[in-house]
Order: sequence, then structure tokens, then C-alpha cells
Amino acid sequence: MFKKAEQEKKEEKIVLLTRQAADGIITFSKTYHPNEAILILQGKKKGNEITINGLVIPPFSSNGPFYSGFSLYDLPFDDSYIGTAHSHPGPSNRPSLEDLNHFFGYVSVIIHFPYEYGTIAAYERTGKKMEIKIVD
Ligand SMILES: [Zn+2]
Repeated sequence: MFKKAEQEKKEEKIVLLTRQAADGIITFSKTYHPNEAILILQGKKKGNEITINGLVIPPFSSNGPFYSGFSLYDLPFDDSYIGTAHSHPGPSNRPSLEDLNHFFGYVSVIIHFPYEYGTIAAYERTGKKMEIKIVD
């Protein structure tokens, strides 16, 4: 029993988001409101720890009130790209089916209106919520 609990604990992933990256996501989301905004996340994955420390504005992104996307074929190959962040102009930061179908990388960060630290969430490919910590 103990061993099993320990194993499950090990699989819990944590996302470390630098304050600078968090502020960038917030500012970008506010700029695009009431449309969705999308950004590429840069960082690294080490074991169960995903560190996000940079943002890239995707080329040819399309933004709308209910959809934000870009073609992954437009992206240059870069292994520092670890996921995406996008905004929800509504009251929920849960990923939509569309979001999960377009999952890119290891992490999907979603922020909802009114775009504050407390409205940021991070999800795995399966839609499972990950713990998120803002670090300086
Ligand atoms: Zn979404």
C-alpha cells in the first residue's frame, strides 16, 4: 500500500511558471480580450517538473472569441517549445475538447478572465490538472 501511494505521488507533475512568463501571459491575454490569445511556451522538462520561462508569439496565429489556433507546421523545430498558453475570455479555465485535440507539447496553460495569477491553470495532454507554482 505504502509503495503504491509513493508511486502515485511520483507521477504528479508540477509546473513552475516564472513570474515574468506569467506576467507576459496576463498582459497578452488582456490585450486580446475579448478574443482568445495564444502563445508558445518555452522551457524545459526535467522528470516531473516542467519549467516555463519564456514566451513566443506564434506566427500566423488566428484569434477569435471562441477559437485561437495556429498551424504547428508553421513552427520552426525547437526543442525548447514545451507547450502552449491561451486565454479564455469567459469564466472557466477548463480545457475544451478542441483544446485537448490540439494539444501541443507537455503542458497546456489556460488563463481565464479577468486574467490574474489566480485564474491560471495548467493541464496535461489527458486534461488532468497539474499543480502550478509561480516562481521568481
Ligand atoms: Zn481553450
